[in-house]
Amino acid sequence: MAASCVTAGELLPKMSKLILMSRPNVSSLIRRICSSSKLRGSKQQQKEKCESQQLVGVVGLEIHAQINSNTKLFSGSSVGFSAPPNSLVSFFDASLPGTLPVLNRRCVEAAVMTGLALSCTINKKSLFDRKHYFYADLPAGYQITQQRRPIAVDGSLTYSLLGGKKGNQVVRRTVSIKQIQLEQDSGKSLHDDVNGQSLIDLNRAGVGLMELVMEPDMSCGDEAAAAVRELQLILQALGTCQGNMSEGQLRVDANVSVHQPGEPLGVRAEVKNINSIRFLARAIDFEIQRQMGVVQRGGTVQNETRAYDSNSGETVPMRDKEGLQDYRFMPEPNLPPLMVYEDRTSLPAGLDERQAVVLQQVRRSLPELPGVKRDRLVQTYGILPEHSFTLVNEDGLVGYFEAVLRETRKEPRKVIGWVANELLGHLKLQDMRVSQSPVSPSALAELLELQETGHISSSVAKQVFQEMWKSSGKTARQIILEKDLGLVSDAAQLHSICQKVVDSHPEEVHAIRVGNQKVLNKLMGLVQKETKGRADPILVRAILAEKTSKKRT
Ligand code: ADP
Ligand code: MG
Repeated sequence: MAASCVTAGELLPKMSKLILMSRPNVSSLIRRICSSSKLRGSKQQQKEKCESQQLVGVVGLEIHAQINSNTKLFSGSSVGFSAPPNSLVSFFDASLPGTLPVLNRRCVEAAVMTGLALSCTINKKSLFDRKHYFYADLPAGYQITQQRRPIAVDGSLTYSLLGGKKGNQVVRRTVSIKQIQLEQDSGKSLHDDVNGQSLIDLNRAGVGLMELVMEPDMSCGDEAAAAVRELQLILQALGTCQGNMSEGQLRVDANVSVHQPGEPLGVRAEVKNINSIRFLARAIDFEIQRQMGVVQRGGTVQNETRAYDSNSGETVPMRDKEGLQDYRFMPEPNLPPLMVYEDRTSLPAGLDERQAVVLQQVRRSLPELPGVKRDRLVQTYGILPEHSFTLVNEDGLVGYFEAVLRETRKEPRKVIGWVANELLGHLKLQDMRVSQSPVSPSALAELLELQETGHISSSVAKQVFQEMWKSSGKTARQIILEKDLGLVSDAAQLHSICQKVVDSHPEEVHAIRVGNQKVLNKLMGLVQKETKGRADPILVRAILAEKTSKKRT
């Protein structure tokens, strides 16, 4: 059924305005541990004042992750982000009387897989409940969720950020995961202030969500941001959620309070409307500072829901109904308990394996998780931990790096520099994905091979890379030939260039002769300048050393 209350043409322009488009910031993966040097001016003073009272921030996240599934949690209608309004709505999604939920096995598997990846205990039997509230985008008047017994409990998420004495060490932190529950998404209300009306789009109504509830184990915005980024990478590796925050596939609510260590936790405020990881960090840090200010002034923090305004960088009060609402939780009568089984032998008689969710099978299908992948990269290739973060952080970059390695003799520790700086730098500059790179892994490997075998100098190699990027398709060999960039190793030619440089720099030559060998590098630079970086450095050094040696005086 396509229950259309408004036409797509009427609604789409409004929708696009409503949805803030912002690409997730992936460059700042390894964040710094909250450091006071980041706070300036009055904030710094306030922080110092709070430190004298030893107030610290406490952060607990509730995250809604849209399950990556073709169809909804309890109906067969499709899931799609930018489909025309109300085009993906079944009778059940619109809550027509007499319709019944049919649980989507894919959604259950996704939740189980996510739970296993986060070291949760999977409940063999979990239950569905109705949570009642009245809102226009919830046609049934209740949401089917898991309250009494969720599918997964007691897990943890390990994430990393920069810290240590010098602030450049990768420090690991862990946040406990209280539970993961399966639930339905609501529809969307689109408020048209001009005409004073609200329009409802039910495309999202009934889409499967995993709600992940984290314990209040974090203490600042950067920790929360690093944890969410790690979760995003894990979900993407699993394929259980696409994790695009700007499309609402991953929605984070931040619970924030302040207290003195050792004392009970303070009253929390919940910050909503956060649609990027960068904003998450800012919203939390603003909220911690705000609450510290309230306590400093002798006030009390209210238990309220606040919204983050990304324009002002502040959190502002929303309706504060949350604490007062009675959701009238009750068991969902139309769904039996949700059962999962340890292995094939524990399936009840008559239940077909293909219709059941079997833990052992899900466990076997778990892919390599980002943390494991990073450790493997560091161990296998001897690269720096920071570089392993850069590689894993960018979709497709590990594959690219390993493909280059297969085709060149160049050491991984040198190849990583090319991939992390040259390639990634060019991609970022043009806001491109790894898969869109005009320079393929084998093309880069060929270039590096030419450098490794002494056909071109390292500065020319960079120049050739830029040409390859622009020409899209030309090989390193072609460019070197066309632009005559090959290494000059003609001894006679180099001798005459070196002689010219030596003759015109008597002071430098004298310095070298009295023992300052570093000055030789300056002369080498001058020779390279003459040859546009093409001179064979080993030959040039030998020739210059000979021409400046004491014996000749
Ligand atoms: P409720 O039952 O009211 O929903 P929960 O115990 O489920 O409360 O916690 C909801 C979220 O709030 C969790 O993510 C949790 O980590 C966080 N939280 C709870 N208390 C605090 C607090 N004092 N400060 C910060 N976060 C908190
Ligand atoms: Mg809760």
